[in-house]
Amino acid sequence: MIRQSVLTAMISWDSSTYNHASSNSLVFYPTTEPSFSSKQAISLQFDSVAPGSGITGRLSCYSSPVFPKQMAFQGIVVIFDFDRTLIDDDSDRWVVTQMELTEVFNQLRPSLPWNTLMDRMMKELYLRGKTVDDIANCLRKTPLDSHIIAAIKAAHSLGCDMKIVSDANQFFIETILEQHGLLGCFSEIFTNPTLVDEGVLRILPYHASTSSPHACNLCPSNLCKGLVLESIHASAPKSKKQRVIYLGDGRGDFCPTLKLGGGDFVMPRKNYPLWDLICSNPKVKAEVHEWSTAKGLEKILLHLINTTPIKAKNF
Ligand SMILES: [Mg+2]
Ligand SMILES: [Zn+2]
Repeated sequence: MIRQSVLTAMISWDSSTYNHASSNSLVFYPTTEPSFSSKQAISLQFDSVAPGSGITGRLSCYSSPVFPKQMAFQGIVVIFDFDRTLIDDDSDRWVVTQMELTEVFNQLRPSLPWNTLMDRMMKELYLRGKTVDDIANCLRKTPLDSHIIAAIKAAHSLGCDMKIVSDANQFFIETILEQHGLLGCFSEIFTNPTLVDEGVLRILPYHASTSSPHACNLCPSNLCKGLVLESIHASAPKSKKQRVIYLGDGRGDFCPTLKLGGGDFVMPRKNYPLWDLICSNPKVKAEVHEWSTAKGLEKILLHLINTTPIKAKNF
């Protein structure tokens, strides 16, 4: 079936984004029926944008009164913390309680750093006859609020570069995101790596323990999120302006928050440690937008994306 789109359209493929305002000259050939990722956004999959062009990619259409500034989205990097931000719970705590590890966890907690302790918990599960699939099945039951799902899908559709920086781990995060159809929305996940070693899920530190420990006294030795933020800045194309929206809740999110510039935004979860630290520290340069509920997070995030002019970046 051939359709003609006359809506304002943003077309993305590879790393490039093209904008066509109410283009009547382009004929699009959708290969799927429209799917509604939110009340306003219509997402269509196309296999070409012009006859014989050979260009393939994803095209999303938005009616202009709802998202009037499509081009403004280019260059926005949205960075999510995972535990108690993207998910309401803590994924480590979820697995420990759901898989009945609370007692041994509490016994070992005083003697092991968190990252090592979670690695030890995975060994404990193996010794109890639990498989990696059992752990994955437990993770797949982790609740995820529909407003968070909608916010991530909309921000991704609007052209934001989506990343996760988390002190959880690769296996937990990827399993949960995949379960909710969100894994493809994220270009990078910076977290503690995992591997399966003879049936045992191993959780390793993000910063290899063989290298010298980072000098940051705000962060645990296994992961300094501020260093990750610096690496994201360093890998950005020099020709492309970038603004960051950072969402988090914990103490570990304060270090990257301090490295945000005046043109960036931080969205701390209200009444959680990051929010407390920001409230008592005048050094934070980024604009602060607190949130309390998933619905509030969605509203604020999409508002910031929708109203952020990249050209006004001033840091
Ligand atoms: Mg967190
Ligand atoms: Zn740090």
